[in-house]
Amino acid sequence: MIDSFEAKGRRKKLVEELRVKGISDDEVLRAINTVPRHVFMDPAFLSHAYTDKAFPISSGQTISQPYTVAIQTSLLKVSKRDKVLEIGTGSGYQAAVLAEMGVRVYTIERFRDLYIKAQRTLGELGYNADFFYGDGYEGKEQYGPFDGIIITAAIPEIPDKLLKQLKTGGRLVAPVGHSGVQIMTVVTRTDTDIFETSTFGNFVFVPMLKGTVNS
Ligand code: SAH
Repeated sequence: MIDSFEAKGRRKKLVEELRVKGISDDEVLRAINTVPRHVFMDPAFLSHAYTDKAFPISSGQTISQPYTVAIQTSLLKVSKRDKVLEIGTGSGYQAAVLAEMGVRVYTIERFRDLYIKAQRTLGELGYNADFFYGDGYEGKEQYGPFDGIIITAAIPEIPDKLLKQLKTGGRLVAPVGHSGVQIMTVVTRTDTDIFETSTFGNFVFVPMLKGTVNS
């Protein structure tokens, strides 16, 4: 059995905690209350699945903290059937939260193992998403333009190549900065050549690196 009464109870508590921490988007909270985060966790950390913290997954990467997933998803301001490109599939948890909200998710991962594992996990849970093994710096122009782009690794600066894959009115959400600490940044494409930037506090992510890793 994938889910349990115990996990459901812990998830509900986590959602209450996120509300107290300032997350108010009901649809985001509903998705977090629905997606079984424990299925995405490394078995060693299973008992911490509903703790509001990031945890190691394989390939030296992390599953984002639920609060961070909630903030990034809220900032995307998505609607059902929107097309969203995620860069940094990792465990697939963020992709599942978006899929639960009815979003059409395209997600890229540079580690082959994580790409395969996340694809399998979402399949088991019955979520639809398009998975790609590749370098997220390239984006996925052939599937764009996107209503939203979410980057879940620290990026020193946002490449024009990705901004060009946004629809007019679309939003890109990314932790911008070098290793250490990054600033959550939203870039909105308000017109063909006009991009407006706003910032939302400090976060810590693993770095966005170039190229792919075949393991
Ligand atoms: N969204 C994930 C969190 C992932 S951590 C989750 O919900 O679990 C960041 C991920 O970004 C890591 O898996 C890392 O391998 C990946 N990543 C880093 N640089 C990348 C790049 N250039 N292209 C695609 N993925 C990248």
